Formats: sequence, C-alpha cells, structure tokens
Amino acid sequence: MKLKHRLRNAALLLPTGIYQRVIRRDFIGLYYHVVSDAPLPHLKHLYAFKSPAAFEDDLRYLKAHFNCITYAQLESYQTHGTKLPPKALLLTFDDGLSQCFSTVRPLLLRHQIPCVFFVTTDFLDNRGLAVDMKASLCIEKYFSAEDEFRQSFSQAYALEFGKDYPAPDAVKDWIKNLVGNNPVELDALCEWMGIDVQAYLAREKPYLSSEQVMQLHADGFAIGAHSLRHERLSELTPQELENNIVQSCQVVQDLTGAANIPFAFPFSAEGISRTLLQEIRANHPFVGLYFGGNGIVTDSETIIPRFCGDSPNGSSPGRSNLEVRIANVYLEALSLKLFKLAAQQRR
Ligand SMILES: [Zn+2]
Repeated sequence: MKLKHRLRNAALLLPTGIYQRVIRRDFIGLYYHVVSDAPLPHLKHLYAFKSPAAFEDDLRYLKAHFNCITYAQLESYQTHGTKLPPKALLLTFDDGLSQCFSTVRPLLLRHQIPCVFFVTTDFLDNRGLAVDMKASLCIEKYFSAEDEFRQSFSQAYALEFGKDYPAPDAVKDWIKNLVGNNPVELDALCEWMGIDVQAYLAREKPYLSSEQVMQLHADGFAIGAHSLRHERLSELTPQELENNIVQSCQVVQDLTGAANIPFAFPFSAEGISRTLLQEIRANHPFVGLYFGGNGIVTDSETIIPRFCGDSPNGSSPGRSNLEVRIANVYLEALSLKLFKLAAQQRR
C-alpha cells in the first residue's frame, strides 16, 4: 500500500473531534438528493443513494454528534453574526424529488430534525424531467434491452446523429456526455429509444407537487430554489443567470410566502462570478444564502459549502457511514490548507 494511502487510513482512525479542532468551522452543511428502497431508473445511473433504514442511521448519528440547525438560524448567523450552537450542522436536500415528501419528511418529523429542501422549480408537479435523469433512463433502457435492440441502436445512431457510434462499454459515458443545457440530443435519443418521458412523469411522479412543497413549509421546513431546469449555471450569460436565480426563488416565495429564499447551485457553482452573485442579491434582497458543494472547503464568503451524504458505501445496518465521510471532508480541507501553506512558504 502506498504511504499516502496508509497515512490516509491511519488519519481516518482519528476521532472526528481532532479534525474539528484543527480545521475550525462554526457549522457544516450536508446535502442529499434522495432516499429510497426502490431502484428509481431516472437516478440509478447518476449516483448511489441510501435506503430509508440507512438514512435513519444517519439521522441518529447526527442527533448524537451535532446540533442540527434551521435555515433561519444560519441566515441570522451569516447576516447578523447571531451565535450558533456548538457543532452546528445544516441538513439539506437538492432537486425536489418526491421521496423528500414520502420518505424523508416522516423520518425528519419523527426525529425532529430541521431541513432545507431545494426544489427545481420548472419541474414541480412533474412538468418536466432534468436532462441528466433523461440520460439515466436511456442508459437503463440500453442495458436492459435485448442484444438486437443494442445492435439496431448502433446502426441507427450513426444515421440519426451522423457520428461514430461508441463501443458498448463506452455507451454510458457517451449518453452522459449528451447532458448539457440544451436537451435536444437527449430528447431525440429518448424518442428513438421509445422512452416516453411524459408517460414516465405521469406514472412515476419523480418530483414533488406544489402542494407537497407547501405542506413541507407548513411543517416548519425551509424551502429553497435549485434553478429553473437544473441547468449548468456557469454556462449562462450574466443576465440569464440572474433571471434563473431570481425567477426560481420567486416561484418558491409565491408558494411559501417566506421572506428569504435560499438558493443551491445545480452541479457546481464553479466558474460563476462571486461579485455577480452578490450583485444579484443586492438587486433582489429576497434571494437568500447561496449553497454549493465542495465539502467544507470555503472558497469565498458568498457560497456556503456542503458535503454529500448520498453514498451508502461503508454503511451497514445500524451503523451510519457519516463519521467516515465527515472525517474525509475534514481531511480534504486539511490537505488543501497544508498545500496552501506550503505554497506560501515557497514564495
Ligand atoms: Zn441538483
């Protein structure tokens, strides 16, 4: 085993408290997308997710080791410096998937844990499906089809798209690479494969309804926006970006009446001007805190980092994998800090 890996494994055995003393954070952010026992074809080829039992193990772990705070507490801390409890953690869910209501809501209510649900507003009430989820449906169809289908697909593909057909083992990546802000190619692929997206939406109802969002708000959870159509926002013009953020926050405000609507960036907030984001908030003060990914690494005051809790890797019945995941994000932040220090020394 390489020294780097040995050190990492040894470091992972340290109690989380040690990292928390070296890398100080007044709070950390955690995000999930979905919790389900079902295979969910629209998500299956995008990421792995936890069962309700594994998620409940996470909740028990959080209750034992953290103080789960509300969005209002975090907002007050960020804007007025109001003190947070020690070991504060904000739990969030992205994308606005229907399991937030059917599966996550009852568990959170039972354990009395606050949460922010970030919804993709054009897809509320199942009015559309995100491009990457369409890609997952196509991948599922391809790999569950007969050989004959796959062969005819390879021939038709060249005719249809005028491109070289990828080798079967590269099909998954090829389909995923069609995901961009323009869904035309994936829509064509869905059509060719006989995937009826509208029928899938009507039958499976992957997203929350507006009513469910209002109920979550009435339950005391915070609702945030997660863009209009789950676009890669770094590819938009400044005006398009502003419209996207403001309009999706407006849809949420119309549903909940909340004064301050947080916004979480789909994919990543990398490449988006922090100055522009601050200007957007200055022009539209109802736009609340901005949330990204990045674990616990803070690249600016503007975007609040969060780490992902979806993966069930390393969890077992009765044992959450969050301790290891949290140790990992602290390790990441620590190695970045050491790297920056070393770079300064060299200067
Ligand atoms: Zn998302």
